[in-house]
Amino acid sequence: MLSQDVTGVRAAPVHPGLAGRVGLVAAGVAVLVEAIWLFGALPDAALVSDLGGLVVAGWAALACVGAARRQPEQRRFWTLLAVTMGLAALGRTVWTVERLGADDLPHTPLIGALFVVGLVTGTAALLCSNAAPRNAVGRARAVLDGVIVGLALIPIGWVVVFRDVAAADLTDPLRTIGLLYPMLDLMQLTILIAVAGPSRRMWPALAMIGVGLAIRAVADAGYVSLVAHGTYAPGHPIDLCWPLSYLLVGLATGYPPPAAGDAVDDTVESPVPPWWRVALPYLPVGGAIVAVVLSRRPTGQTPHLVFYGMMTLLGVLAVRQGLAANENLRLVARLRRLAYSDQLTGLPNRLMFTRRLRRALRDRVPVAVLLLDLDGFKQVNDRFGHAAGDRLLTGIAERMRDVVDGAGTIARLGGDEFAVLVDGTRGVPPERLADRLLAALQPLPGEEDLGVHPSASIGIAEYGPQHTSHTDLLRDADIAMYAAKAAGKSAYRTCTPLLRESAVTRAELIADLRRAVDEGQLHLEYQPIVDLATGAVRSAEALVRWQHPRLGPLTPARFLPLAEETGLILPIDRWVIHEACRAAGAWRQHAPEATVAVNISAAHLRRPDLIATVTGATAGAGLAPRALTLELTESALIEGSEVVLERLHQLRELGIRIAIDDFGTGYSSLSYLHRIPATELKIDRSFVARLDDDARAYATVEMVTRLAGAFDLAVVAEGVETQAQHEAVAAIGCLHGQGWRYGRPVGLDDLLGSLTPIDAGR
Ligand code: C2E
Ligand code: CA
Ligand code: CA
Repeated sequence: MLSQDVTGVRAAPVHPGLAGRVGLVAAGVAVLVEAIWLFGALPDAALVSDLGGLVVAGWAALACVGAARRQPEQRRFWTLLAVTMGLAALGRTVWTVERLGADDLPHTPLIGALFVVGLVTGTAALLCSNAAPRNAVGRARAVLDGVIVGLALIPIGWVVVFRDVAAADLTDPLRTIGLLYPMLDLMQLTILIAVAGPSRRMWPALAMIGVGLAIRAVADAGYVSLVAHGTYAPGHPIDLCWPLSYLLVGLATGYPPPAAGDAVDDTVESPVPPWWRVALPYLPVGGAIVAVVLSRRPTGQTPHLVFYGMMTLLGVLAVRQGLAANENLRLVARLRRLAYSDQLTGLPNRLMFTRRLRRALRDRVPVAVLLLDLDGFKQVNDRFGHAAGDRLLTGIAERMRDVVDGAGTIARLGGDEFAVLVDGTRGVPPERLADRLLAALQPLPGEEDLGVHPSASIGIAEYGPQHTSHTDLLRDADIAMYAAKAAGKSAYRTCTPLLRESAVTRAELIADLRRAVDEGQLHLEYQPIVDLATGAVRSAEALVRWQHPRLGPLTPARFLPLAEETGLILPIDRWVIHEACRAAGAWRQHAPEATVAVNISAAHLRRPDLIATVTGATAGAGLAPRALTLELTESALIEGSEVVLERLHQLRELGIRIAIDDFGTGYSSLSYLHRIPATELKIDRSFVARLDDDARAYATVEMVTRLAGAFDLAVVAEGVETQAQHEAVAAIGCLHGQGWRYGRPVGLDDLLGSLTPIDAGR
């Protein structure tokens, strides 16, 4: 409510009172009358001109006094302008008096002094306006810009106006000052532009005064030129410019002042000035250089005024550059602070933190990262407001500083998330630091009642070989932090491989798997299938492995279900078939009869291109089709349609062998054994595992073996781990076995090593 009222007052147009309005009309009429008089060349034009100037300047001074009263926050600005206008009125009066008593134009010391004082008060007014820079440096810069323009205009003015004028005119110092009038006007105008830039609210009033200044500059330039050429007489139409410029100053008082809040409010970013405003003071300098060269003609000498003007200009430019350079340095330092630190707590921010972390990793410093997240910070914000939240965060930062104290770098990563970079060389174990942090963040007596003090959860990750970059380390700390949150509040957790693996989401894994297929992260291991009687390796089953870049080696159980769901199983199977055939081509050099077995997914069985893939792979590896066994699970076969059956027969005709995998786990309908052109059965390892103590398992294996014999199928006992199991399956009459008892899945090189001695023994 209150603020609405205040803005309401501020935004309302400031109406001058009745007297003010009468004055405005009078001033307007005065300008109009004077215009008619001067342009009509009516008698006593000089007097009318003087009176007009006096009346309008006097009115403008009064208008400024009124504005100073109405706008307390701009009082100094309007007061100084009032003085300036008063001085103009006084100057005009003195001029009139002196002119009437002399033949020549009265360029007396008094008038010169009045002009100079008016210049000072006018400039001071500009620097006192709400729009002006707050700091002394900013104001000095505005003044220097003005001085640069003024000085640069001296040689230009020289060339344009005075070059042809007798040098004698310049021996009189007062005349010289007169020559400088237009330059001083433009100097003031430049200061105004430098000052007015950032504040939009002040613009209308300052713009009006600026136009007034420009008109005065034109008038002064015209006057000086006319005088120099001896063609000026009081009452010349150019005289109209002065009352016009005063009129504009008076009119400017009608605009509302800028809201004090706007000008003082530091949170509002001041707009970057356009390039032309920055370049403005320097443009005349270029012109000045050209003018200095031109000014040497026709005498071949540089006039004193121009020479000293240029020397002063050089000095001022140097000071201005010094200011700018100094300010740039400060700005750069400030930007750096802004870019790398958190505004609320003053701690380093995320950018700074990652920079330090990366540098530590680059320098191979053993580091750990503690990630600290407040539990329930959001509730504090919601219940007690953002100011309370901010206070809490600064308090937390303070307590963290006390605890860490040189053992690491604290940073606020954003929101309610803090981090500590622990330097391993400082000898403080991260867990101890986490303990101390949690203790320090416990609510103080009294705080818990308010409920404004949430506890914190901390995740710790120590840099290790599994990390490829700082992002890995931060991610691990994040995983650990969530584990700490899940474990209850006010706890810390260190990231372990297990934690890491469980945190990888399905979606991530699918994306990774897609890349793995393309980038060749998959490889095969081979598990021997042996002849139970001799122990000779008859075959080897290819088993796919995935070396995950972050999670390390993954078993098929971890990723094959995902591959089946997404269809990625097809390119994987295809790759496995080719790779296994190539491997078999290699080991048949050692054991010419050894075959290779490959697992085929149910999805692949339904694909018509299976036959092309298989024949392509065997032919490519120079392998006879009978050296390849396709392992199909019972369930995949049962749901197979006529088309699938037909495809199996075709494969069989080509000479490819077909094994029924995991036999006994599906719906073992005997009828399908008739229809499927299989060459062998693999008894599931769940039966083999129970052989020792489960009579029914023993009976099943026995029965299946006999059944296989009846169907003329070879039998492989899977998962044989112990000597007892080996003896049992051998006694039952299985011919082949697979399992850890004979060899675990190994790389191709290891398999080749195990092939040679057996073959050599034969
Ligand atoms: P599977 O076809 O029954 O393969 C045998 C599995 O039993 C392998 O597990 C093997 O490492 C394991 N094994 C072998 N001997 C023993 C033992 O003595 N004791 C125990 N406890 N386990 C033993 P793995 O490599 O994890 O493969 C699991 C399943 O993933 C395979 O079962 C197979 O169905 C599938 N699979 C593996 N590689 C591929 C592939 O390239 N393509 C397709 N489509 N499926 C594959
Ligand atoms: Ca298998
Ligand atoms: Ca199996």
